Amino acid sequence: MKFCIENFGCQMNDHDTEKMVHLLLSKGMERIQDVNRADIVIVNTCCIREKAEQKFYSLMGRLRKIKRKKGTILGVTGCIAQQEKDGIGEKLPFIDFSLGPSSIHRLGEAVDCAIAGERHLFDFSNNGCIDSLLIKPGTRRGKIKAYITIMKGCNNFCSYCVVPYVRGREVSRNSSDILQEIENLALLGVKEVTLLGQNVNSYNKARDDLPFPDLLRCINDIDSIERIRFITSHPKDMSLELIECFGSLSKLCESIHLPFQAGSDRILKLMNRGYTIEEYRKKISLLRERCRDIAITADCIVGFPGESEEDFAGTLNLVEDIRFDGLFSFAYSPRKNTVAATLPGSIPREIALERLAHLQKIQKAITLEHNRAMEGKITEVLVEDWSKNSKEEVTGRTRTNKIVNFKGSSGMLGGFIDVEIVKGYANSLKGEVRKPIGGHTC
Ligand code: SF4
Repeated sequence: MKFCIENFGCQMNDHDTEKMVHLLLSKGMERIQDVNRADIVIVNTCCIREKAEQKFYSLMGRLRKIKRKKGTILGVTGCIAQQEKDGIGEKLPFIDFSLGPSSIHRLGEAVDCAIAGERHLFDFSNNGCIDSLLIKPGTRRGKIKAYITIMKGCNNFCSYCVVPYVRGREVSRNSSDILQEIENLALLGVKEVTLLGQNVNSYNKARDDLPFPDLLRCINDIDSIERIRFITSHPKDMSLELIECFGSLSKLCESIHLPFQAGSDRILKLMNRGYTIEEYRKKISLLRERCRDIAITADCIVGFPGESEEDFAGTLNLVEDIRFDGLFSFAYSPRKNTVAATLPGSIPREIALERLAHLQKIQKAITLEHNRAMEGKITEVLVEDWSKNSKEEVTGRTRTNKIVNFKGSSGMLGGFIDVEIVKGYANSLKGEVRKPIGGHTC
């Protein structure tokens, strides 16, 4: 049978999709990309923002028509499945199964039931179940980068966020299991690993196992792994010990994603973020002291309930002072079951979008300045693939996670190449291969 998975959302969802692909390939099925030719279509959903949810329901409308014509089996997984629980069967009466993120290990069972003609909406009560976390998606030889989930869920309850409700409370994987998985990936040729979790900084916080900085140290000692990244971090859990890892662990890349969400202490309190702007700034200074050239990206929400012009000015100040390498910014949208959805002072949509456009314009100029400042520098690039825009160019990333395109050859794929940056653009860099000098700047 042929299956197709449509994925929405974050890296955790991307990785859950990799796991589901692995489970279905192990059943002898074939993966294809065309929903019209598939026998089974699974939609892995995201409900973190209203837009992703709207896109999902519109896709389901199209899939319903395909099912009518061809009898395609339709499954829904991910955060919307968990949020809606049994209600999804009423909203989408034509689907064959649904599974929350904690139940993806039961995908094979769900598919078997659907093939047998039984509709199955799984029990959504076991949201803390660890089994989904233990699926190892495997990898094909020649793959150079891999995600590894080290923990799932979140205990923070930021007032705008659905994650603790749809992904459950924090659960960490045993360090020995993670290290074994990475050693196996290294043997297959993986050179870069990205550790995933909603809040990786609190990995093993309440358990008698390696804390996060120690886990990083152990991975740093694995032969053949050349680059380590992690996502996502929470500013309040970014310890001094973790900051010290930048610059002292040779394989830990000089880049961090550290969401600040708002530039006003009043709004941060309403968001239940657990830090002040002063504390956030302090952590950024320490990171830059420890690792001068570290690239810093962040997330930010504008138009949160009660956000005044003064609060928004605080966000602009922060962005102009810190000069992030990149910023993922969004207009607030209320999410079901969250405290923020009940707060007074909602901001009219047009004002929120105006503020967002203003912020994005400022950030775009800053990102471009960062990228132009790279011109003339020589930097190490891990070459990932051929560029989509040119048949002669390959594409890869610097240790600071910036995309570089340059004229190359198939022999470069999967290798580390020293490249001179000749042009910085808004979203990428253009390079040329010069005499290799190696090394990095921390
Ligand atoms: S830290 Fe806050 S924003 Fe991040 S997943 Fe947890 S509750 Fe959501």
